[in-house]
Amino acid sequence: MSIKNLDPNGLEQNKDWEGNNAAFTCPVCQKVFIVSDTRMHVGPRKEKGYRKCAACARSWDRVTGERKSGGTASIEW
Ligand SMILES: [Zn+2]
Repeated sequence: MSIKNLDPNGLEQNKDWEGNNAAFTCPVCQKVFIVSDTRMHVGPRKEKGYRKCAACARSWDRVTGERKSGGTASIEW
């Protein structure tokens, strides 16, 4: 699997992150999808806070905490 962490101070054109919500472009199928730090969804290693791409189900995005207060956001595929 590959993983890419978002830079809170240098977001790319195809990503967004505000508060504890982040939007990603799926690296597999290009579908845009959002994830919130609700911790409702379980990811590939049984950790919470993930959301799977609704179109292809081959990537997972995750956000923990808030962008301006040390949070992290990442996408895995
Ligand atoms: Zn996808």
